[in-house]
Amino acid sequence: MKEEDIINIGELLYKKKLTFSTSGNISMRTKKGILITTSGSALGFLDKDDIVLTDETGKELEDKKASSEKMLHIEIYKRRKDVNAIIHAHPVYLTSFAACNLALNEPIMSENILYFEDIPLAPYAMPSSMELVENTVKYLEDRDVVLMANHGAVAIAKDLKHAFFKLETAEYYAQVMLNTMLLGGAKKLSKKDVKDLINLKKSSL
Ligand SMILES: [Zn+2]
Repeated sequence: MKEEDIINIGELLYKKKLTFSTSGNISMRTKKGILITTSGSALGFLDKDDIVLTDETGKELEDKKASSEKMLHIEIYKRRKDVNAIIHAHPVYLTSFAACNLALNEPIMSENILYFEDIPLAPYAMPSSMELVENTVKYLEDRDVVLMANHGAVAIAKDLKHAFFKLETAEYYAQVMLNTMLLGGAKKLSKKDVKDLINLKKSSL
């Protein structure tokens, strides 16, 4: 069951401290439409009543109110046909960088360059606004994780499991980045190292 997949990922996000209380939202694209968590639901404690089916424009097809960030999800599905799952959350380390308006774009770990290249920062706009949707979606054209300034992060993937992995790995990146800052700064990889890693990534696709 698709709803159960969302419930399980919500629980995992909560256990891994990637979400808390009633913050964040999860969705997945199905043949019937978009399944998305309802407004005010707690991702760690979801049941089927906390998930609503909408059409591809975001109109609820059941008598429940979808998350106030539903248009962010809808717009991402419109523009990224390869994406079938989206997690928006406010994990502590990613949100700390977002609050400082710092993108995660320093070449400090080879694995992260292979995985993300970088994690850009989308400019601030009011939560739930179409301005926030526009600001954020454009960074997701060629990236799968983006920071939302003074707010949180979004991770997108072909399925929920991989969206979870992306958010989890991004949070790990933010945590390591902060540690390197506390330790006086990481020794950055050279431009050539970065280029070689990106070529390696391209050749393995
Ligand atoms: Zn949010």
